[in-house]
Amino acid sequence: MPEHLSIKELEGTESKMIRRVIKGFVKNEIVPVRQEIDDDKDHKIVNSIMEKLMVGGPGFGKLMLSGASEDIMASPAFIGALEELAAGDSGIAVALGCTGWCLAPILFEPYRREDLIKEFSENIFSEKKLNMGCFAMTEPEGGCDIENPRMEGKKIHTRAELDDDEWVINGSKQWPTNSGVSSLYLTVCTTDPDLGDDGIAMIYVPYPIKGMSFSEFENKAGMAADRNCTIYYDDVRVPKRYRAAGPGDDAKLLHQNLVFGSIGSAAMSVGAAQNVFDIVTDYATRRIVAGKPIKEHSINAGILADMAIGIETARTYTLCVAKMFGDPKTYGHRWSDEMIAKARIAKVYAADMAVMVTNKAIELMGSWGYVRDADVEKHWRDIKETQIWLGGQQLGRLDIARYFCKLKML
Ligand SMILES: Cc1cc2nc3c(=O)[nH]c(=O)nc-3n(C[C@H](O)[C@H](O)[C@H](O)COP(=O)(O)OP(=O)(O)OC[C@H]3O[C@@H](n4cnc5c(N)ncnc54)[C@H](O)[C@@H]3O)c2cc1C
Repeated sequence: MPEHLSIKELEGTESKMIRRVIKGFVKNEIVPVRQEIDDDKDHKIVNSIMEKLMVGGPGFGKLMLSGASEDIMASPAFIGALEELAAGDSGIAVALGCTGWCLAPILFEPYRREDLIKEFSENIFSEKKLNMGCFAMTEPEGGCDIENPRMEGKKIHTRAELDDDEWVINGSKQWPTNSGVSSLYLTVCTTDPDLGDDGIAMIYVPYPIKGMSFSEFENKAGMAADRNCTIYYDDVRVPKRYRAAGPGDDAKLLHQNLVFGSIGSAAMSVGAAQNVFDIVTDYATRRIVAGKPIKEHSINAGILADMAIGIETARTYTLCVAKMFGDPKTYGHRWSDEMIAKARIAKVYAADMAVMVTNKAIELMGSWGYVRDADVEKHWRDIKETQIWLGGQQLGRLDIARYFCKLKML
């Protein structure tokens, strides 16, 4: 694809270098095996890919906890890496992205925690084996009400109580990416739901630990490289210092993570859509119908043009918001209503666009689009999830309307 001036300006040299490395990784390590991932029930293939990504090769595990972590993670460079990974497999992208999501609150200023970064990098992420992180927010009673800034944490049921210098956690979480396979769980709790935002407590729980257990893994339509289950906390005790910041500040960190997650989700939608666009364009060039290539019929050229409009718009806007997220001195707090609304625009638009692109690509490819060999149906199943998670498209649109139209509704 030709490179555009706007993308060059948004991304910079470092980001382009990371994209190149990940592109090569996807081509060599993911694409050759991606059709097997849905049947990889014990995650042998997935773990081997994740090990190469996190521990060897691009070495994301070390990078996330390095001194330069904020510069890389809170920037278009990390977002570009997620886009490229999702072009290979969205489940792999989300497994890596959510490890970063778990760590982000202690990596980014002004709440950077050198003590916890040192402790976790020495005790958890230092071993020469795969370690993942999980950001556990959703509960069996619901996800959106916890992600809805207007609910101010009043619908969080997982309780954290201070007992001397330890937090005692009781409750359960459902669905988080990397649940049941992580070494560190950032758990969204409340010290008292009546306190609203001041009650929100973001507490790190290393695993294994007494009192923490898991259900069976969920059997999903797609995103097979991502593990999801229910997590049970039964008098789980962790040191007081494992709370990310403190009353009021943890609510800001929760909102900041919603912004970060929404930008990452948008990038994954763009990556999957781009890969499908490349596949369908190639097919529509080679396959002849009514005497000429599929793409040379104006009725189909219009569909391909709509795909290109969606991908280009979503990528450019997502990188713009990623750039704003990386520069709070210029653009303000990462947890502001403006940042929430703009990250939601990126997420909602890119998710709807990717579902449209994958859906229409199957139509243009006829029955060949519907078989596993073509890789399009896999992206279609995988990427549907980007409309569902992070509060779904409805809460996303509400957050946008709240900022731009001054809505009052919850
Ligand atoms: C593959 C996968 C990965 C996931 N990863 C994570 C993760 O890493 N961490 C995590 O904590 N969770 C994760 N989740 C959970 C996911 O974020 C939630 O399922 C999602 O936010 C929706 O919550 P819910 O399913 O409880 O739906 P509900 O909260 O019950 O919402 C149902 C519907 O109501 C709509 N809605 C919500 N609020 C409003 C409102 N105010 N007004 C009108 N309509 C509204 C929603 O858009 C949705 O359509 C993951 C789920 C999957 C399947």
